Amino acid sequence: MEYIGDVFYDYGGGLYANITNQCPCRCEFCIRDMVDSLGDADSLWLKREPSLEEIFELLGEWNLNKYSELVFCGYGEPTARLDDLLAVAKHVKTNYNIKVRINTNGLADLLNGRETAPELAGVIDAVSISLNTSDGAKYDALCHPVYGEDAFGEILEFTRKVKEYVPDVTMSVVGGTIPAVDVEKCRRIATNDLGVKFRVR
Ligand code: SF4
Repeated sequence: MEYIGDVFYDYGGGLYANITNQCPCRCEFCIRDMVDSLGDADSLWLKREPSLEEIFELLGEWNLNKYSELVFCGYGEPTARLDDLLAVAKHVKTNYNIKVRINTNGLADLLNGRETAPELAGVIDAVSISLNTSDGAKYDALCHPVYGEDAFGEILEFTRKVKEYVPDVTMSVVGGTIPAVDVEKCRRIATNDLGVKFRVR
């Protein structure tokens, strides 16, 4: 198949999957507005989305036994293609001894119009959710979600649900993008209110 951008790439020793550039947010710190690629990728901007068959074909070019983790991340929100993501994750979990993680903005339920957390059970080992800031108005101002201020509550609700189905759940903020007082508020939301791990990335 023709080159459409890097669908898989090696980043810091992990295998990363970039299956979509769709995203309902426009975060002011988004790395895709700063550079076109990460790791060993040439471009993470996809000329078009690969079909599921093409994703499997491209995955076959990689030696998965070399990696301890497959991470759905990329230049977009991976749960915008949740069905395809889970099909690939199931294949990998069935055939390889490798962990599967999703890096997400936590808006999967709104994107897919259904409760998605139960679908991750037994297929996804870890979910890293971008909390980004400490309330709905600030999230709207920083990340500009198409859902407006309601997005923030949805992210918290998704996190509450996903920790019932996925063993390793982390919320994160991007260091240097919000005041220290808000970082601490975020830490409390993640660890005290929601009972998940917290990371400043
Ligand atoms: S949610 Fe992620 S991909 Fe989307 S704009 Fe924000 S940082 Fe970029």
